Amino acid sequence: MKKTLKDVNFKGKKTLVRVDFNVPLEDGKITDDTRIEAALPTIKYLIEEGARVILMSHLGRPKGKAVDSLRLDPVAKRLADILGQEVSKVDDCVGDEVKKAVETLQDGDVLLLENTRFHAEEKANDPEFAKELASFADIFVSDAFGAAHRAHASTVGVTEYIPSVAGFLMQRELNALDDVMQNPESPFVAIMGGAKVSDKIGVIRNLMKKVDYLLVGGGIANTFLRASGYETGKSLVEEDKLDLAKDLLKETEEKSVEIVLPIDVIVADKFDKNADSKVVAVDEIPADWQSLDSGGPETIAKYTEIIKNSRTVIWNGPLGVFEFDKFAKGTNAIAQALADSNAKTIIGGGDSAAAIKKAGLEDKMTHISTGGGASLMFFEGKPLPGVEALDDVE
Ligand code: ADP
Ligand code: MG
Repeated sequence: MKKTLKDVNFKGKKTLVRVDFNVPLEDGKITDDTRIEAALPTIKYLIEEGARVILMSHLGRPKGKAVDSLRLDPVAKRLADILGQEVSKVDDCVGDEVKKAVETLQDGDVLLLENTRFHAEEKANDPEFAKELASFADIFVSDAFGAAHRAHASTVGVTEYIPSVAGFLMQRELNALDDVMQNPESPFVAIMGGAKVSDKIGVIRNLMKKVDYLLVGGGIANTFLRASGYETGKSLVEEDKLDLAKDLLKETEEKSVEIVLPIDVIVADKFDKNADSKVVAVDEIPADWQSLDSGGPETIAKYTEIIKNSRTVIWNGPLGVFEFDKFAKGTNAIAQALADSNAKTIIGGGDSAAAIKKAGLEDKMTHISTGGGASLMFFEGKPLPGVEALDDVE
C-alpha cells in the first residue's frame, strides 16, 4: 500500500504536485478540460489543508526545448477560473524565478510551473534536474496517473529527494484497476480491439490468464481471423504477428479461456469516411475490400450476450475505425452493452475512453481510466514506475 494524502499533515508545507495537465489545445484554447477536472479533488484538498501548492505537468511534445504554443498559461487561467482563486504561473519549471515565486507562497496559494518537457532532462530522468525540482518543496504528491508508466524526473526522479505520496486521482485509479485485476468476479470478460496486435500482445497474454472470455475486435480481429484461415482481403493484417495469433488461439485449448472472433464484419471499398460499405460474413470478405468494423449484427448479438452474462468486463480498444461514423457500429454497440450490463465495467486506453465519451455513456461505467498507456501497462501486469517510487505505508 502506498501512502496517500491522508497520511500527511500539509499545513504550511511546500507541496510539489505532479498533475496531468496534458490537455488538447486548438489555437491556444483548451478544447477539453477533463484532465484539469480530474486533478481538482487533490488540489482543492491541499488548498483546504493549508498547503503551499506547486503544480507541475508536461504538455504535448516540445522535445526538450521551450515551445510557446505548449506553454501552460491557458491551463493556469482555466484552473484559476474553476478554483475561483489566483493561480500564479512562472515561465520555467526550474531556476531562480521559480525559487522566488515559491518563497512568496502563502498557505493555500497555488503556483503552476512551466511545461516540464521544455527540458530534455525531464524525459531523461536526470538526477540533478529532479533534485532541483524537489528542492522547491517539502513533500511530493503524485496525481498524474496518465504519466505513471514513464520514469521521468517529475514522476520518479523527484521521489529520491522528498517524501512522496499518491494523490486522490492516482489512488482512485489504482484502487479501481487493482480491484479488477486482483478480485474479478466471474464470468470475467476482456474485450480487445484497436489497430494493432503488436501494441497489445502483453495485455492479451496477461488477461488470457485471468479472463473467461476474450472478445476480439477492430484491426486486431483481422490478424486473428487470418490466423484462423479466413481470407481478409485488403484489411489491416500484421503478417509478422500471424504465428503469434495462431499460438494464442492454440493456447486457449489448454487454458479455460475462450477467444471469441467476429462472425460478420462491415467491409469498405476503401479507407475513407464515405467509403461504400456492406455487412459480410467473415468467410466472405471480398478480395478488394477491407474490414473496418467488427460491428456485424451477428457479432454484436453474440458479444452483447456474453457481456450481459458477465460480472466483470475490461475493455481496451475500439472495435472499428470509430472516427468514421459509418464504422462505429461495433464500438457503439459494445459501449451500449457495457452501459446496460450490471457488471463491473473498466475501460482503459485513450481511444476507447474517447469512444465512450462520444457515445455519451461515461456515467454508466464503473471506471474509465484517465491514463491510456498507464492503464495498458497495468493490464499487462507490470508495475508502474511512477507508482513503485512512492512511499509505502509502514
Ligand atoms: P486505445 O487507445 O483505446 O488503446 P488503440 O489506440 O489501440 O486503442 O486503437 C484505436 C485505433 O484503432 C483507432 O484509431 C481506430 O481507428 C483503429 N482501428 C480499429 N479498428 C480498425 C480496423 N479494422 N482497421 C484499421 N484501424 C482500426
Ligand atoms: Mg490509442
